[in-house]
Amino acid sequence: MSSRALNVLKNVFGYDAFRGRQADIIDQVSQGGDALVLMPTGGGKSLCYQVPALLREGVAIVISPLIALMQDQVSHLQEAGVSAAALNSALSVDERREIAGRLRRGEIRLLYLAPERLLQEHTLSFLQQLPISLFAIDEAHCVSQWGHDFRPEYLQLSQLAELFPQVPRIALTATADVRTRQEIIQRLQLQHAKEFVSSFDRPNIFYRITPKDNARRQLLQFLAPRKGDSGIVYCLSRKSVDSIAEFLVEKGFSALPYHAGLSNDVRAAHQQRFINEEGLIMVATIAFGMGIDKSNVRFVAHLDLPKSIEAYYQETGRAGRDGLAADAWMVYGLQDVLLLKQMLASSEGEERFKRLEQHKLDAMLALCEETRCRRQTLLGYFDEQLDQPCGHCDNCTEPPKTWDATEAARQALSTVYRTGQRYGVGHVLDVLLGKENDRVRSMGHQHLSVFGIGKGIGEHQWRSLFRQLVARNLVDVDVEGFGGLRLNDACRPLLRGEVQLQLREEAGKPPVTYQASQASKLVRPEQRDTWEQLRALRKRLAGEHSVPPYVIFPDSTLKDMLDQQPQSMSDMAQVSGVGQVKLERYGAEFLAVFTAANSGTPAAEPVHDLQHEIITLARHGMTPEQIARQHSCSLKNVYSHLARAIGNGQLSLEQALDLPDDLLGELQDAFLDGDGELPPAAEIARQFSTLDEGIVYCVRAALQAEFG
Ligand code: ADP
Ligand code: ZN
Repeated sequence: MSSRALNVLKNVFGYDAFRGRQADIIDQVSQGGDALVLMPTGGGKSLCYQVPALLREGVAIVISPLIALMQDQVSHLQEAGVSAAALNSALSVDERREIAGRLRRGEIRLLYLAPERLLQEHTLSFLQQLPISLFAIDEAHCVSQWGHDFRPEYLQLSQLAELFPQVPRIALTATADVRTRQEIIQRLQLQHAKEFVSSFDRPNIFYRITPKDNARRQLLQFLAPRKGDSGIVYCLSRKSVDSIAEFLVEKGFSALPYHAGLSNDVRAAHQQRFINEEGLIMVATIAFGMGIDKSNVRFVAHLDLPKSIEAYYQETGRAGRDGLAADAWMVYGLQDVLLLKQMLASSEGEERFKRLEQHKLDAMLALCEETRCRRQTLLGYFDEQLDQPCGHCDNCTEPPKTWDATEAARQALSTVYRTGQRYGVGHVLDVLLGKENDRVRSMGHQHLSVFGIGKGIGEHQWRSLFRQLVARNLVDVDVEGFGGLRLNDACRPLLRGEVQLQLREEAGKPPVTYQASQASKLVRPEQRDTWEQLRALRKRLAGEHSVPPYVIFPDSTLKDMLDQQPQSMSDMAQVSGVGQVKLERYGAEFLAVFTAANSGTPAAEPVHDLQHEIITLARHGMTPEQIARQHSCSLKNVYSHLARAIGNGQLSLEQALDLPDDLLGELQDAFLDGDGELPPAAEIARQFSTLDEGIVYCVRAALQAEFG
């Protein structure tokens, strides 16, 4: 690995080491080779082209399908001090012209573009006159006609190979399957590209799938230890999105709905709030998520079953992009299974597609009913083998009990058969349990030999058994009619006693325990206060800079600060994610959280008292010199206390100092002469060499307090 790449990683992005295959990928592209990168969400794809872009001559062209994603990336880069821009339809003609000018002058290192803009004749001919360092094709799976994100314009990106034969190309995607990979290679002419395939495991995500009992109560239990965290709750229907969002708000959570039935404006506003706020829960249909780069989504909860493992993986994958602990949590029940089967049956489309969808749903159901490690099953589905159980999913940490359900299943199936293969679970259960109600009597089912044979097992467990039979396709459901159960070929060996059936045991209602939050383990209780201070500071800075909070620093950086407890700017520079520019911009303010936190400890209490004392004396009209004498401390010390008090609004400049008006005016002009940022006080102090430097600091603090 070249030391230049490591330097860029450290100085610009503030990280110490490359992750996974980043170093190899960066080597390949920096040296002018093509690359195809398959890496899961949160794996660190961006750096794979951003670092080479900074190592090579010219401007890097990044092709991205969504304006929101581009904007996020550009903000990240700008905050790190890298000049980047996005050309998109949201810009005015003037803004576009301005960017073109900067490009010609070689002032932009990364340019983000939508494919349709890139492919316009005049864009291509403009770019041909520029030195180009590389092309990065983000979300490269958009080229696949089979995928959900197909974008026809992506197909034409194959032209780049012919138009810019000397420029390396790197295609990136988080879509794992082999077919998509082959399509990308073929359609983007990447036959000579080196392939870099990472594991698709998301080790920081804890998976939990629980039978649905009372979804709202279960959701509340899940959310209780997660107050203040951002997350997504997925529901299938718009109606349930609305009602769950309302319910959560009633229960004191900050939650918003998101679905296709809301107007564009409302949706955009809710999405924006989710990105910019901390601790907001988005209750959404699957329409929400694409184009969200928020790195600190701490949980994804499913109240309804996704249609496939692909969908489950993608949706849960939105949690924990920052690599910190996150939860994927789901409840599901028989009703979900029936509903999805029904939707499938009534959907339009070719038979073979329906069969494919049916297989996908079956795989999803198998994952739900799985008794072994969830992660092994999940990755296995994507043809990736995990040798050991992961130790980080519900089945690993609380291995489910299984029971021999062979006899019970036979009783259930016989009851289905004897009642005529027409009734749904409810009626079959009544017969099994020997409930003599009106419907049972009207059918004469109380006289059947199976009436009451299931009394030895509780209703809850029977329901769980039926769900598992349906999930395993051991019994068919008439989803086009009224949900009647029917026997099928698959259940015959069971009825004949040729096979055994082991099922998950769910005796009784699930216990009312709070499942510990993975994310809440992030911050130890004694760190909570400081953590909240750091988040509040980040939020304020984000507002001032008009970027989302996680663009200022990701949670992982705040967490590293908490663990490192920096006491100086050089400590701060060691924190992961603090590059040079961010250190200059934000280092001091974040440092103050720690130094101030320390001054609150008993040992440092006198300092705190002195500050109060000095403020009081100044308010009473004492000059700094008098205060210094009274407390026998240095004048410099007094001035620094005064400046701090002025800066945080506890004291006005007039109270602190008695300065002649003309001198004050001159000082203020000197500070305000530049454009924007106030110059450092030391610089101004040099111009007013006869003045005590402390005065200059106080004036600066006053200006800062005034102009924010
Ligand atoms: P992806 O695009 O693959 O979803 P990102 O590029 O957004 O992932 O990276 C996810 C997170 O990991 C970001 O916060 C990023 O800054 C961080 N990250 C990436 N590479 C490294 C690294 N080598 N060391 C530390 N953090 C990293
Ligand atoms: Zn596991």
